[in-house]
Amino acid sequence: MRCKLCINSSENPSRTFDENGVCNVCREFKTNFSQAALDAELSFLKTLIRKDGSTDCLVALSGGKDSAAALYTVRKMGFHPKAFTFDAGYNVISDRQREKIKNVTQILKVPHAYIDARPYISEEDRESFRLTAEFYDSQIEHMDSETVLKMFRDERHCNRPKDKTIRPFVRPCRLCRRAVIRGYYAEAVRHHVSVVFLGINEWCGVHQNNYTAVRKLEPVPGKPVYIVHLPFLIHRKMEDLVPILRKIGWSEDDMDIHIGTGRSGCLLARIAESKATGLLGFNPDETRLAREVTVGFIHRAQALNAVSQQAEPPDTSMMDILISKNILPSFDK
Ligand SMILES: [Zn+2]
Repeated sequence: MRCKLCINSSENPSRTFDENGVCNVCREFKTNFSQAALDAELSFLKTLIRKDGSTDCLVALSGGKDSAAALYTVRKMGFHPKAFTFDAGYNVISDRQREKIKNVTQILKVPHAYIDARPYISEEDRESFRLTAEFYDSQIEHMDSETVLKMFRDERHCNRPKDKTIRPFVRPCRLCRRAVIRGYYAEAVRHHVSVVFLGINEWCGVHQNNYTAVRKLEPVPGKPVYIVHLPFLIHRKMEDLVPILRKIGWSEDDMDIHIGTGRSGCLLARIAESKATGLLGFNPDETRLAREVTVGFIHRAQALNAVSQQAEPPDTSMMDILISKNILPSFDK
């Protein structure tokens, strides 16, 4: 069964359901969400706007609608952003997305750079990528659902930037996240700013029972960097995007707003979804879309449609992808 409010599946061992068929994520959100906490975060962020007009924040652009609209909103708020796009090799940045990035940054007069994210992949991450490739390329065929579900549950807490756990990941996004967040911090410091805005449509975390849109990173004392999930901070809804996208040069043909799982943007997620969904009993990217429903960004039917599409089986091994993108050295093969 699935949650009556979001799309979380009862196959996921981390979810529990009440007698009305509502999952623990939706129940906790309903109980603990506080508008006052978000208002305080927004007020604080506005104090970081630099009056002299110098660059005061970074905005991550993927070429998709959410981050493009986030850049527009950050400019409207009075910030002076520099935009960037991380390229790790295995994330897909299509020509169409590159065109969108070029257009939106030109229209909003915001400087933009593509930044190689691979220097932020640690030795431990690299070993974990190797184990993840071995898992998907050969081991998974001999595994039962119970083992894969246990791996999926155990790896949840290994996604923090400081984490040095070496293990295979059923959901590679959790491993990638470690390097990416390290990269956000380093790039903010390199650009002498303390805010990085993202177009992610869910909360950053839960702190003292409050849902937060801002994550404070401070690995170097005295140099805090705030990672902001902008859509959650301002209660953005999918419907809000259309008028913004029109203003930043999206044609009416592009307005057919696509909602998909992680596989459309990542070669590793594509393999993971095609090979793990059957064994898990749910799409490994489902919990992310479920949270977008919980917060009201997308409708339940849209998320259900996205997870019901079958991922195409890969035409290449994960090891070959990681080697060809220089994540792993070729002698590993
Ligand atoms: Zn739910």
